[in-house]
Amino acid sequence: MDSDCLFCKIVAGGIPVRRVYEDELCLCFADINPQAPTHLLLISKRHIVSLAQAVPEHAPLLGHLLAKAAEIARTSKLDRGYRVVVNTGADGGQTVDHLHLHLLGGRPMGWPPG
Ligand code: AMP
Ligand code: ZN
Repeated sequence: MDSDCLFCKIVAGGIPVRRVYEDELCLCFADINPQAPTHLLLISKRHIVSLAQAVPEHAPLLGHLLAKAAEIARTSKLDRGYRVVVNTGADGGQTVDHLHLHLLGGRPMGWPPG
């Protein structure tokens, strides 16, 4: 845990969020500033700064996050499709330096992203 990290504080329960799913590796909760009718964040409980820091040791965790995103999309009834986004670094638009996936759905998504 990084005591200065917003998402580590959320994992620890120090900041209230609408929790959707949780297990030993990850936590899913509603984004505070939703960009689509469904906008969830799926975060690693372990503090990893971003996907840019990922190494082969993280492969089981990364696979778990993707598989859970698909499972949560199914339980959220995103049958028409959805988008999973991992903003990475400054040019990637990452604002919270703790690895997370955005799960966005409930409307058609544009391409290319901004
Ligand atoms: P990113 O810009 O990819 O790093 O995503 C960070 C996301 O965290 C943004 O979509 C924010 O709206 C979201 N966020 C920031 N603070 C909170 C919070 N307290 N609860 C829920 N979501 C948050
Ligand atoms: Zn953190």
